Amino acid sequence: MIDRSDISVVVPVFNEAGNIPELYKRLKKTLTGLDLTHEIVFVDDGSSDASAAALALVYQADKKCARVIHLSRNFGHQLALTAGLDYAKGRCVVVMDADLQDPPEVIADFVAKWREGYAVVYGVRSSRAGEAWLKLWTAGIFYKMIRRITAMDIPENVGDFYLLDRKVVDVFVGLRERHRFIRGMVAWLGFKRTGVTYARKARHSGTTKYPFWKMVRFSFDAVTSFSFAPLKMVSFLGAVFATGAFGMILWTFYQKLFTTTTVTGWSSLMAAILFIGGVQLLSLGVIGEYIARIGDDVKARPLYAVDQILE
Ligand code: UDP
Ligand code: MG
Repeated sequence: MIDRSDISVVVPVFNEAGNIPELYKRLKKTLTGLDLTHEIVFVDDGSSDASAAALALVYQADKKCARVIHLSRNFGHQLALTAGLDYAKGRCVVVMDADLQDPPEVIADFVAKWREGYAVVYGVRSSRAGEAWLKLWTAGIFYKMIRRITAMDIPENVGDFYLLDRKVVDVFVGLRERHRFIRGMVAWLGFKRTGVTYARKARHSGTTKYPFWKMVRFSFDAVTSFSFAPLKMVSFLGAVFATGAFGMILWTFYQKLFTTTTVTGWSSLMAAILFIGGVQLLSLGVIGEYIARIGDDVKARPLYAVDQILE
């Protein structure tokens, strides 16, 4: 039998040196107050600042409970999380950010719900302090859109801060797609779920590791992983344009045969050609997004590489 803690906490870390000591302190306090055995799994996602040194200090101070997985380079938040979930051995696993935006104290509420029998307990942000309006606004649109076009019940205002029961983690680790939107995958898995509301704080230190373009990439991954709506949109556009074009042909014949006017217009022709050319390239791009992801999954490379584990 493997030695299983009751609870594992997985924390992906990318250049969070300024947050690690405080995070560890508050996390440890919460966990020791729980009367459960615990492990804390830090996944260093190729940090280039002093995070490795800060994690080494934590490990030295708490060899019994702290584990540090150093990935070989930066693989991105979702894959770092995956590495942590693959590794964690607890009877339940909590996932949280390293920047203290998700208060560690909320874990006690998660555990209370878990003890009531819920297999998935996710944090719902009742407020979000210290985040740019652009981020809040785009996040709002994103959640509305993803809920509408994927037929799935992906809760709104939920980030990667949740508790998963062992039986959920065991199924999750079998999902090996590369471009992942983990909170969507968790929703897809089902199980008995509930939310716990909390106030999301501003970052303790450092800046966000999700700049605008990375958010855009991430939403593409979310949409393509759970929906074919963009492809259906392409077919729909095709149908609309074909119908329009057919009408134009009829109208042109009518003018030629029954009236004395002939259809003229270099400008309108140019406009139509360029417009349809644009729509075609856009459609190819949409299809390309799906094909690229198929390509990546067919290669079946490992999702991440581990450089070193402190345990
Ligand atoms: N993160 C990571 N790899 C990355 C980007 C981010 O492991 O490539 C971690 C980061 O250290 C943090 C969590 O993912 O613990 C969430 O990132 P962040 O707080 O920057 O996102 P935001 O809260 O701004 O959406
Ligand atoms: Mg954050």
